[in-house]
Amino acid sequence: MASLQSLRGMADLLPGQIGLWQHVEARAREHFRRSGITEIRTPLLEVTELFARGIGEATDVVGKEMYTFLDRGERSCTLRPEGTASVVRAAIQHGLLSQGPQRLWYGGPMFRYERPQAGRLRQFHQIGLELLGFADACSDVEAIAIAWDLLAELGVAGLALELNSLGSSEDRARYREQLVTWLEQRRDQLDADSQARIHTNPLRVLDAKHPDTQALLAESPSLASALSDASQARFAAVQQALTALGIPFVLNPRLVRGLDYYSHTAFEITSSQLGAQATVCGGGRYDGLVQQLGGPATPAIGWALGMERLVLLLSQAERPVAALDLYVVSRGEAAATAALALARLCRQAGLAVERDASGSAFAKQFKRADRSGARWAAVIGEQEADDGLVGLQDLRASDHAGDRRLGPVELVEALQAARGRP
Ligand code: ATP
Ligand code: MG
Repeated sequence: MASLQSLRGMADLLPGQIGLWQHVEARAREHFRRSGITEIRTPLLEVTELFARGIGEATDVVGKEMYTFLDRGERSCTLRPEGTASVVRAAIQHGLLSQGPQRLWYGGPMFRYERPQAGRLRQFHQIGLELLGFADACSDVEAIAIAWDLLAELGVAGLALELNSLGSSEDRARYREQLVTWLEQRRDQLDADSQARIHTNPLRVLDAKHPDTQALLAESPSLASALSDASQARFAAVQQALTALGIPFVLNPRLVRGLDYYSHTAFEITSSQLGAQATVCGGGRYDGLVQQLGGPATPAIGWALGMERLVLLLSQAERPVAALDLYVVSRGEAAATAALALARLCRQAGLAVERDASGSAFAKQFKRADRSGARWAAVIGEQEADDGLVGLQDLRASDHAGDRRLGPVELVEALQAARGRP
């Protein structure tokens, strides 16, 4: 029978890769804790309308990338393509916003039906931050700094912060008219995708990948000049605060996020080492979203970073999975039971233990003990099983001079004492 394969764009994370993922996740968790940000977990599956309303029909994500199906009760369901809409839904549904501003983070798989390539999958993983109920320019900078510092702490080098302001919804409405008129006049010079977007999502045309379209856009009316005085002052305050924190940035007037609900600050953190999939982290302010999803008017800012892209940047420096303390080898039926009991006792005492279950010759089991990375080996043969004792060997010692036989409880105490020493 032909063997089964995972779906295209859906990757397995194998034991050799997991150390790096867990390292990143642990650092992120700690980083958020220090920043006074609490985790929130929402379902992977939501009603389709949440994303249609929360992300916008005219976006690529809703238009062509969602995994949508009818469940057995004929409800249209969608595997979440991003986290923000779900977090906002949960905050509204559970009345979190009436308890004051919310500082939330989330992590986990997202699903988009895209063409898979390096750093672009159909099931991918994000870590994201949402600050709900925060209006001031310093909050934008706090959100950016949390992302920037997390990446720096993880040791990712060569990153660039790109920054833009999309202004208020009134600014954008005014600019949209100018831009649509300008694009209409040049319709036949645009690529097909951009032509289709002139009326559905004209700002997205600014982000077109097609080189001819890009060249033409160099002459397009600028969003910056359409910003009101208040929006410009706000953008200046964001830049000043970034400078005050010593976070370098470059202005990118073409930076428009793919999602419709953004306003004012928009940003991306990119790496030149990622080829076409250069953006590790993207985010911005989305003052209109909470209300659009039926909640109270609530200013908000957030970002999401792509774990696969981050891990690609880190994978040169792979980290091993945390080492074992003890590897237990045994031979014979009574010894196997004693080994099982010893492993359990050690685990209950907080030690990391693996038991060899092969029943093969001691020499082979000891080879595996060496390969396991454990510091110690416990040996239980028929004699030890009869005596209720265990042989303990230091796998880093060059000879057997230090080998000992001791009872299980003594062994646990010895290892705990030794663990305190280098
Ligand atoms: P892109 O322009 O690369 O498609 P996007 O604007 O669609 O990105 P966002 O929706 O802002 O991305 O998601 C935030 C981050 O999640 C991205 O910067 C990226 O790191 C990651 N990401 C998005 N889509 C994918 C994907 N299909 N596979 C892997 N990572 C992804
Ligand atoms: Mg995308």
